[in-house]
Amino acid sequence: MSTETFLPFSRPEISEDEIKAVADVLRSGWITTGPKTAEFEQKFCEYCGAHSAVALSSATGGMHLLLKALAIGPGDEVVTPSMTWVSTVNMIVLSGATPVFADIDRETMMVTRETIEPCLNQRTKLIVPVHFAGASVQMKPIRKLAKKHGITLVEDAAHGVGTEYMGEKIGSRGTVIFSFHPIKNMTTGEGGMFCSDDRRLLERIRSLRFHGLGVDAHDRIQQGRSPQAEVLEPGYKYNMTDIAAQLGLSQLARLEEFIARRTELAQRYIRLLADIDEINPLELPRWAWDMRHSWHLFIVRLDIDATNMSRDTFMARLQQLGIGSGIHFRAVHEQKYYLETLNLKAGSLPATEWNSKRICSLPLFPSMNVRDVATVVRVIKEILSK
Ligand SMILES: *Cc1c(COP(=O)(O)O)cnc(C)c1O
Repeated sequence: MSTETFLPFSRPEISEDEIKAVADVLRSGWITTGPKTAEFEQKFCEYCGAHSAVALSSATGGMHLLLKALAIGPGDEVVTPSMTWVSTVNMIVLSGATPVFADIDRETMMVTRETIEPCLNQRTKLIVPVHFAGASVQMKPIRKLAKKHGITLVEDAAHGVGTEYMGEKIGSRGTVIFSFHPIKNMTTGEGGMFCSDDRRLLERIRSLRFHGLGVDAHDRIQQGRSPQAEVLEPGYKYNMTDIAAQLGLSQLARLEEFIARRTELAQRYIRLLADIDEINPLELPRWAWDMRHSWHLFIVRLDIDATNMSRDTFMARLQQLGIGSGIHFRAVHEQKYYLETLNLKAGSLPATEWNSKRICSLPLFPSMNVRDVATVVRVIKEILSK
């Protein structure tokens, strides 16, 4: 990408071959959920070692179906970080349940056993840790904790396609929801994948994604199976199209290449930012657990005290100088609706609030080059020198 033009913070990487493959699906006579979706589910399982998978129109839809399948509603509590995308918390609230926020570790930006434990009580029905920025949550102590209390654990791996924890890909065990939104490490335009080693839960999700029928349209029309399929329970409409699934298949084939590129760019950022005291990358250098980072995001924390500059001003300067950036995330409990309804006191989630004020995601996507990284760092130095 030319550094003369605006450098966005993210950009999907889609080749002409992938566009051709999608065009072939458009010409094929079958464009909604069908053979490509089934193939994508199977290839995704092979990639991450998942037991089985259901492709969906989004990860948010997956969270909605999960809450429905677990019959979570009024009187129930769901523990998740406030440092997450709003979709999870919105779905919890729309189900009638109450979100309970676990604080994060300030340096990893992820929940820990220690931050989750005080949130648990008799009403807790579900714990949703969030794998952050391409790193992995330290799952082992959290799995033990959930088991001890008999609480369901479901991982939000929207940032974690290709991430490994203790030698295993995220998705290879337990119940895990992935996202293929355009900024994620691989995309289907919009889409998600629900993986689980709980066969009964997975089959519920498969049925709920398509009206609660026993079989979907492709099964009925193409395979000639049971055109009399009937509603087992009222379901939703969160199925993935074969158009999206073909893009997913092509992207999955390139995922390792994408991750290698992201890793190279992230390592270049870390090296070039090392001598800027006011910028603290979320680089997680002292891992206490074994993992492979998939570098979904490159997040830095601005020293707002030393620079006497707000993060928002810093982002506006970057924008003026041709560099896009993002915030992952503005803490959910600090946003209008949740401020008014949950009414959590400032200071109740100290590490979340500390990061929420300081974080900024710098450009990171596979078609960037190392010169773009150097440009971003040069611009940051320029901003901080004023
Ligand atoms: C993107 C994202 C989601 C939602 O994914 P969609 O596919 O857009 O619904 C959920 N959680 C986190 C942490 C995310 O970043």
